[in-house]
This record gives sequence, C-alpha cells and structure tokens, in this order.
Amino acid sequence: MITTGCAACTHENRPGSFFCSQCGSRLHLENESLGDLVRMNGPQQDTRLEIPGPVCVLGRANTANIVLEEDSVSKEHARLTYSEDGFRIEDMQSSNGTFLNGKRVHEVAEVVSGDLLRLGSVILKLEA
Ligand SMILES: [Zn+2]
Repeated sequence: MITTGCAACTHENRPGSFFCSQCGSRLHLENESLGDLVRMNGPQQDTRLEIPGPVCVLGRANTANIVLEEDSVSKEHARLTYSEDGFRIEDMQSSNGTFLNGKRVHEVAEVVSGDLLRLGSVILKLEA
C-alpha cells in the first residue's frame, strides 16, 4: 500500500486506491498487487495466493488464474473481479458452491478485505 498520485490530474489518492477519486483514471500500479487470497485450511494453510489481475478465475483446472487442486473445487469454480467499486465474487455454477462469510453466493456478491470465501472445502481470506 503506497500513496498514489494521479498522473492525469495530480490528485493524491488514499493508499490502496486503484482509480483516481477525482478524475476516475486508473492509477499506475504495475508493481503493486491487488491483494492476496490466503488459504485458511487444509495442507496448504497459510499459503498466500496473489490475485494476478482484475478478472481472476478460481478453480481446479490448470487454466484457472488461481488453481485450487481439491476434488471439491470445480474446474472453473468462481470468478473474482476487481473494479472501482471493489472486489466481487461470482459463482460459476460450481458443483459444491461458493460461500462468502458462510452464506452461499447465488449470483454475485461484494467482497472486502478480511472476508472469508469458501469454494467447496477450500477456505480463502481476502487480504487487499
Ligand atoms: Zn486523477
């Protein structure tokens, strides 16, 4: 998290901003991660998975952006997206469901830092 001056209008945005609050342009943060998903259970507990981009598919398929090698996870299980409104999680018609803080996600739900996601049996905490 760094203080982020806008290249377009020079507005100083609060740390952690991805879009300028004054002019709406995307801030240049190539070296800054959007955040991490931390595995909260299982043999890979405490592993940090870096969120690789603003659209991120989580699943068992090796084509997923974040691969979760668990039988309870569908090949393309859920999609995590980031926009100026923040993070959202969307279930991709997974077999075992996607849960946000224990509640099933039926279509799409907002996610904030500290929230717990469960995909099948895998629990992940968003740290952004
Ligand atoms: Zn700006």
